[in-house]
Amino acid sequence: MSRLMYDNVHMLSPSGEFLCTISNKKANWYIKKGLGSWEEMETKEDYKDCKQGEEEFRTIRLNFIPENKKPTSSSSSSSSSSSPSDDLYHKRVKKNECCICSTSHPGFMRHYVVPSSFRSLFPRRFKSHMSHDVVLVCSGCYVDVQKRTGREITKVCKEGEERWKRKVEGEGGKVEGEWMVDRETMEARSKAVAIRKYGGNMPEEVRREHERFVIEYLKSIGRGGGEEDEETKLCDKTLEELGNLGYKTRNPKYKGGAEIIVEEMKTSERKLAEFVKYWRRFFLDVAKPKNLPAGWGVNSKVTLDGIIREDEVVV
Ligand SMILES: [Zn+2]
Repeated sequence: MSRLMYDNVHMLSPSGEFLCTISNKKANWYIKKGLGSWEEMETKEDYKDCKQGEEEFRTIRLNFIPENKKPTSSSSSSSSSSSPSDDLYHKRVKKNECCICSTSHPGFMRHYVVPSSFRSLFPRRFKSHMSHDVVLVCSGCYVDVQKRTGREITKVCKEGEERWKRKVEGEGGKVEGEWMVDRETMEARSKAVAIRKYGGNMPEEVRREHERFVIEYLKSIGRGGGEEDEETKLCDKTLEELGNLGYKTRNPKYKGGAEIIVEEMKTSERKLAEFVKYWRRFFLDVAKPKNLPAGWGVNSKVTLDGIIREDEVVV
């Protein structure tokens, strides 16, 4: 929980140009794959482009230029791309401090600006640029911002579910519930539990009725019946087993609020981009962060390449 979020490893191009800061994890991945090597810095002058204040950081030099760091062509048909603020965000050293209240006391948490209940359902392209929308907050600020975000998620999901209900019912259909309940199993389970716990105190007639039901149920699932004595089949072990039976299964046709909302937007990358910006704006409004990393902004890019494809279904 309290580990540092920003390692600020400086990443250089093969020619030594400073590209951005990355995590130790990512740098180690490049090293392991043979895509770069750690750089020995003789003096800070060697990397004056990436010198930031008096601090020194580990530096990795890649032996290739990543696709998203290559100069972009202006003839692209899609709307793009890296703005100066995106560049600033990726190049500046990020402080391990609460982005809301600026405390640097340990005990930081990661806050997902775009809630993971939505983002986990996004297409891959929209998940690969997550670091911008994961911010560092102290535990005090975390509780508050999580509470407010939770309320907003509920509101957004409820609106989505209502839209979905109107659409499905408008087409003459019926909205599926989340769970499918096997009523027979539920009743057998409830009666088995009652016999086991309170059988001794039950009126004889009621207990017999319960037992009959449970025995019929056992027969229906291929257990018991035949020549065996009914009483012996309802031993404590069988009743205990029945008391643990599951009677609910998740309805595969059910769609939850987050699923409905992301599905509504999957036909347009622009809608998804707007949704990401909606949550960034929400975060700014409710948390009023005083210490966001330089270059962090509502209009920062939402995909790794900064491209939003027009009129195209995202798969
Ligand atoms: Zn704080």
